[in-house]
Amino acid sequence: MKRRVDLLSCLRCGHQPLERQGPIARCNECGRAYPMRRPGLIDCLPAAADDERRLELLLSPRQWLRLGKEAYTRRLTPPDPDLYETMRSHAGGLLLQIGCGSGRLLDELAVHPWRLRIGVDRRLAPLLRAHRSPLSGAQCLLVRASPYRIPLRDKLIDAIVINHLFSVFKDPSAVVFEAVRLLAPAGVLVCRVERRHHEPLRRLLASAGFAYYRLGDWWVSKRLDAQSEALAERAR
Ligand SMILES: [Zn+2]
Repeated sequence: MKRRVDLLSCLRCGHQPLERQGPIARCNECGRAYPMRRPGLIDCLPAAADDERRLELLLSPRQWLRLGKEAYTRRLTPPDPDLYETMRSHAGGLLLQIGCGSGRLLDELAVHPWRLRIGVDRRLAPLLRAHRSPLSGAQCLLVRASPYRIPLRDKLIDAIVINHLFSVFKDPSAVVFEAVRLLAPAGVLVCRVERRHHEPLRRLLASAGFAYYRLGDWWVSKRLDAQSEALAERAR
């Protein structure tokens, strides 16, 4: 990987990679242009699809209150040791967070030696905040895109983190299946959900072909067929 746009594929025609042309990334096949809002922040959604408002409709006032309280306690608490331990053992490759918001978790994970940290969110304002973080730089790529259709190549990502899977996304299973498409054969999916969503998560991971273990609040999953896929890849 020489440049960050090399990882991206066109949402309209699937062509890859995109080509950087000044402030836009362009698909050479169909000509679609994706604006780079900042160096390393690519925008793949029309402005009208910014769904700060849709998220408001999706979450009840009680959930907002709880998420707000959680954000507040997080500011007062040190980084999550369980997440640190999990990510330390999987660090090195490409990291993706789906629903990265303003990048707090992406920043926290910068202590590990990733080749690149990628954050996807459909709201531009939080992504711009994430971009202003001192830890956002050449080792970070921010993408404004739908969590169900992420403009990255198949089997590219070594570790995917999803926080609050059932509270933030309208269709959690579509997010997990998009993660399946993106994960490298030996890749790992790391999720956290609220206690009342443990059972749905268990079912969802099983239906997507994941085996998992838990470390504190985090569910660490690998695909069951990963091993055979990895062998097949090597035989090719
Ligand atoms: Zn295209």
